[in-house]
This record gives sequence, structure tokens and C-alpha cells, in this order.
Amino acid sequence: MAKEHVKSWRVGDVTVSRIVEVWDFQDNIQMTMPETTAEEVIAMDWLHPHYATPDGKQRMNFQGFVVQAPGRTIVVDSCIGAGRERDFDVFCDLPEDFLEDLESLGVTREEVDTVFCTHLHFDHVGWNTYKDPATGEFRPTFPNARYLFGRKEYIAWQDHIRHDGHHTDNHLVECVDPIVEAGMADFIDTDHEIAPGIRCEPSHGHTPGHIHVRISSQGQDAVITGDLMHHPMQCAMPHREATFDMDKEAGRQTRMGFVDKYKDSGVIVIGAHFFEPTAGHIETGENGQTWFRGLGL
Ligand SMILES: [Zn+2]
Repeated sequence: MAKEHVKSWRVGDVTVSRIVEVWDFQDNIQMTMPETTAEEVIAMDWLHPHYATPDGKQRMNFQGFVVQAPGRTIVVDSCIGAGRERDFDVFCDLPEDFLEDLESLGVTREEVDTVFCTHLHFDHVGWNTYKDPATGEFRPTFPNARYLFGRKEYIAWQDHIRHDGHHTDNHLVECVDPIVEAGMADFIDTDHEIAPGIRCEPSHGHTPGHIHVRISSQGQDAVITGDLMHHPMQCAMPHREATFDMDKEAGRQTRMGFVDKYKDSGVIVIGAHFFEPTAGHIETGENGQTWFRGLGL
């Protein structure tokens, strides 16, 4: 992915930067919202052209974030990773551009002090590790970092999900286990404070211990969603079922609460999978319906 896809936003003293690994992935809206139709996407003017195609397909990215606060360098969701075998071709054998993009921000691997994963799906833990070309082993990408995993999330994947026969767990073996084995993991509560003004908020539903992150600095605020939503259309229809929510009802309640809390609040919402613009505000329109206004639109 070329450097122009790296984008940064200021939140007081904090800079949040986006690094994209899969750019403009297009698919039917049912991929994300199974009860929603292409016609509904086409009819929602504000989705076009940024978040939807003329024929009603969703546009999305797979991306991670770097949060630079005074004295701190934090990776939030480490995306997919290079040279992996995953369930879909689009995620397999990606190049190592993520690390080059990180460098283009002036950040070295050694400087990263914290890696925080909103949840333990493959597209949020990938660069926790890299594949050692000499041995083929997966090793921690960020040698000086503490890796923060939600305690509830980690236990859930260990306890039942790994053994339920429905989920492949390659990404856990490659991207989570080596961190735990190296003694570099800290298991955190859902309201953990990562750094001054950078705090976790619970958002159970997509996964059992899903957490998103709120950043407050100098009177400015932003929130990185993780996968409590995948597409801006969910800001208008938070009550609609989401395909990838493991607990559908909890996911719906979390999303509705999130939209209610952050609409018209001035807080910048940074969507983990939102296409360009990835950051924006949830606003209430003249018709009373909430929508997502990308920054600059
Ligand atoms: Zn995701």
C-alpha cells in the first residue's frame, strides 16, 4: 500500500495515524448487514461516492492505527500482517508495507511501547508478530512493547471459541500465542486506561470482550471504533443486525448506545473499517436520522 494512504489526525496533543493494508474492498452490503439491501444503500445519498458504489456495494478498508501521545507510541489494532494464510485470498500473502508505512511516520518498531487490540480477530492482531524469514517462526514485531489484550476477550477465545469447531485459530497461534509465551502480554479490564487521556470503553457483542478506545486531549476527543461497527451506514441503522457480531443482540445494543452517546457530540469517530474519509462525526440530520459526516465532507 502506497504511503499516500497513510493519514493523520490531531486530537489535542495526540496524533492518530491510519495505516491501510487492504484499500477499497468492495462487496455486497449483506457482508456487513444481512437484512439490508443494495436499494437501501443506493437511496442513502450521503454514502455516495465515499462509502458505497453506484450499484449499492459497500466500500471498506482493512487498517490499523498509530496513536502518538506525549512520551508514548501506541499501535491500536495491528491489522492483518504479511505472508499469512487466511480464509480469503484478499488477506493472504500481503507484502510488508505496513512496516514501511510505520517508518514513513518516523516511528521505529523499537519505539512502539504499547500494542492494543480491540479484539482478537485476525485483521486486528496481524502485525503483533512477523514471520522470521530464517526460521519461519512468528516473533513479536515490537520488541519493547507491552501488548494489551482484553482479559475477558482472551479467556473467551481460549476457553470455548477455540474448541467450538467453527473458528479457525491460525491467527491466534501466529499472532497472540507468541506474545503470551514471550511474557509480553498484559490482560486488561474493559475500562483500562492505556495512557493519560487514552481510555478503553467496553463494547461487547462483536466479540465477547470487545473494547474500543476513547482519546481525550486538550479539550478535543476522538474514538476508534474497533469492529462495533464496520460501515458508516450503521451510524444510520445501528439497530440492524450485523453479520459478524458473535452475540447479535448485544452487538445491536452496543451500537445503538454508541451512536446515541457520540451523535452531535463533536467527538471524532474513527471507523476501524471505514473507507475514505475514515474519520468524521455522527450527526443528526434534518430528518431526525443519524448519519456519518466524513471529515472534509
Ligand atoms: Zn475487523
